Amino acid sequence: MKVNLPEPMKKAIPVLQVLEEAGHTAVFVGGAVRDTILGIQLSDVDIAASSLPEETSALFEHVIPTGIAHGTVTVIYHGESYEITTFRKEAGYEDFRRPESVTYVTDLYEDLKRRDFTMNAMALYKDGILEDPFDGIAHLNKQLLAAAGNAEERFSEDALRMLRGIRFLSVYTLQPQVSVWRAIRRYRKLMCHIAMERVCSELDKLIMAANPMRALQWLEASCLLQYLKEPLPLPATSYALAHLEDLATANIRWLAFCLFHQFNEKQLLSWCKSLRYSNSQTLLFRSIAALHNELRDMQIANSITQEQWVALVLKYGKNSACTWLKINSVLCRNGMNFLSEEATNSFKKKLSEILVFNVKDLRMNGNDLQKKYGRAAGAWIKSVLERLLLMTACGQLANEKEILLAAADLLLDERL
Ligand code: ATP
Ligand code: MG
Repeated sequence: MKVNLPEPMKKAIPVLQVLEEAGHTAVFVGGAVRDTILGIQLSDVDIAASSLPEETSALFEHVIPTGIAHGTVTVIYHGESYEITTFRKEAGYEDFRRPESVTYVTDLYEDLKRRDFTMNAMALYKDGILEDPFDGIAHLNKQLLAAAGNAEERFSEDALRMLRGIRFLSVYTLQPQVSVWRAIRRYRKLMCHIAMERVCSELDKLIMAANPMRALQWLEASCLLQYLKEPLPLPATSYALAHLEDLATANIRWLAFCLFHQFNEKQLLSWCKSLRYSNSQTLLFRSIAALHNELRDMQIANSITQEQWVALVLKYGKNSACTWLKINSVLCRNGMNFLSEEATNSFKKKLSEILVFNVKDLRMNGNDLQKKYGRAAGAWIKSVLERLLLMTACGQLANEKEILLAAADLLLDERL
């Protein structure tokens, strides 16, 4: 079969040419070929070649030895970067995960054989000729996810393939072949051998599927998350949650998932820790969850005033407040609406009107206060500045030095 190469592959043809002219075989492989067949925009162009990593490196000027132990080098060519991986076979899988060492081979078929699913085990030559030894195209036409080879063997070699499979089912709207589903049910316990970093990166790709709700449904049906190396707090009810596609990043989608399932602080931390979130990711999760919980508790006690909302915005920051509003709109549409749409809209409007978020944004500082009142520095300065900030953020004061200092008079009078 001959295929029309998409633009990013055409751009990479000279790279294949260099390798071929040196006597090697070089082809496009992996997700790039799959997405070309499906007519989807390519995320990256992966190349496989019969040349050894050092032979590949010697042929190009700009080379980064990204994963040289596994046979991968990154070549920078005309401003684009291409991962070129030596044909290899992965033998001697230990502990149901990817082997530490690989064996290089010169036969393309051997390389395709080690790949996970039939649609990922195709290769394209630079003239558009397709190699499809495991019937990837036929499976894609039938919207079936099929393993390259025996599903049970392939999943017990590397259990992460099961989670990749769940991702592919949702991203490409496929059904699993009976043997694939049976193998997942049989081998899901092997997930405990997979490093949590690899799990996290798959989960992020999975939740970024065009239909994240379907991804969650497949994930739940597979029970894979119940068998991880480190436990995740999992919802007692159905995982499913609609409209996550309205949220821009994987992180924020997962946070909406955690809030919808009412994870407490301990569960939230365990989620972040098990999935190896960075400190800044964890901080953002905690900050937005704390804002969410404060709002919920306040609303239960009494309806929230605009001033209370502004105070929370100042406490948790503009970014957390903006993100929470977006998450809240998704939660509302899933029936979790502790705030009316009207209140949410007025909060959104108020947030857009806030001009100062930090005492540093005030056109006056602690020195001005000290000078005016002739008093030693102390906690009073912080407390006055914070009150002035809140009043300014609420729109009760203009951010002008004279006005702020006059308002400070009143605040200090109040305190006497
Ligand atoms: P995408 O890049 O869209 O996330 P992809 O299929 O290209 O999807 P990569 O992780 O980039 O995924 O892997 C490139 C190719 O390497 C895959 O298409 C597949 O052929 C092979 N591959 C990746 N991970 C595995 C694995 N765990 N077992 C077997 N083959 C794999
Ligand atoms: Mg890829």
